[in-house]
Amino acid sequence: RLQQRIHGTTLEINLNALTHNYNFYKTQILPNTKVMVMVKAFAYGGGAAEIANHLQQLRADYLAVAYTDEGVALREEGIRLPIMVLNPVQESFIHLEKFDLEPVVYSPDFFRQLGKFCQNRNISMKVHLDMDTGMHRLGFEQEHVQELISMIKSYPQLIIESIYTHLVGADEEIHRDFSLAQLRSFVEMCDTISGTLDYKPMRHALNSAGIIQFPEYQMDMVRLGIGLYGVEVSGKFETHLKPISTLKTTISQIKSIPQGQTIGYSRKGKMDEDGKIATIALGYADGYDRRFSNGKGFVLIDGKKAPVIGNVCMDMTMINITGIEANEGDEVIIYGPGISLKELSERIGTIPYELLTNISSRVKRVYY
Ligand code: PLP
Repeated sequence: RLQQRIHGTTLEINLNALTHNYNFYKTQILPNTKVMVMVKAFAYGGGAAEIANHLQQLRADYLAVAYTDEGVALREEGIRLPIMVLNPVQESFIHLEKFDLEPVVYSPDFFRQLGKFCQNRNISMKVHLDMDTGMHRLGFEQEHVQELISMIKSYPQLIIESIYTHLVGADEEIHRDFSLAQLRSFVEMCDTISGTLDYKPMRHALNSAGIIQFPEYQMDMVRLGIGLYGVEVSGKFETHLKPISTLKTTISQIKSIPQGQTIGYSRKGKMDEDGKIATIALGYADGYDRRFSNGKGFVLIDGKKAPVIGNVCMDMTMINITGIEANEGDEVIIYGPGISLKELSERIGTIPYELLTNISSRVKRVYY
């Protein structure tokens, strides 16, 4: 059911395609391996509450967000699944407790701060340990393992629900050996830590590409992100996934422009011949990347490719539609089935993740 459009541009989310992708990954995941879905960054732009709710119906095992407020928002929407918070700040401890969120603990200092917080409040909290096996972002390093073991003993209030690591390039063949080294060192660290505990934390290391590339390391849980949203990054199952999002807008005005005239700010676009341009209701403030300016980007109008001409403006973009039949008010597809995010992102030197997560909040999400 499509809701009424209110500003010309909509991001349509196909929840059936999401189900399809989820079920596809389920066929690739061992029966006893749980699925955590990354719904951080507004579920990669698709809308965290609606997608989390759908995942709850699909019986996903876990959700993950980046920040505590993202988790709070999901709880306020009635999401009951366990939620891991990747990057909680100290100020949010009270919210973690209140909203039953499970923080990632990534450093000795952070462990102690959270341990003291739980001690003072006489509560226990499920936590997840982030092990740094080569990403060098957040996480405990090999040299912290002994200190970590003694801290786990000192603060039994922190229940180690899982131990995890993140691969630096699961989708890049060139980094395969490095990924394998990360996985081996992760298993070693997990064995050392778990060997000192009288319970068994879950282990997880694989993102969407990793699930396909390193199936033997799926362990207790995997962390599914971009693949669920329909972007295949391992290069193996391109045809098995369905894009879940279609970004569309409409043509506000069409103009006939003579050869030699320039289009838009700074006169960056030039008409090589007499032709027509269409101005569409989408700009960089909607998350349409300004790097798509001047032919780097293209859109689909009635199934035909038409290039961007001139600089992308804040709220509008001009498209060269010379030779294309189009009318004011016509629909324009920015991406979706028919225009792959992979191709678009490569044209401007970025990755599909950035295009997806950049769609701004003023773009109406509609679900069907
Ligand atoms: N795990 C962690 C720690 C992440 O930061 C991310 C995404 O950035 C993922 C898993 C999911 O990765 P992907 O979207 O490539 O599946």
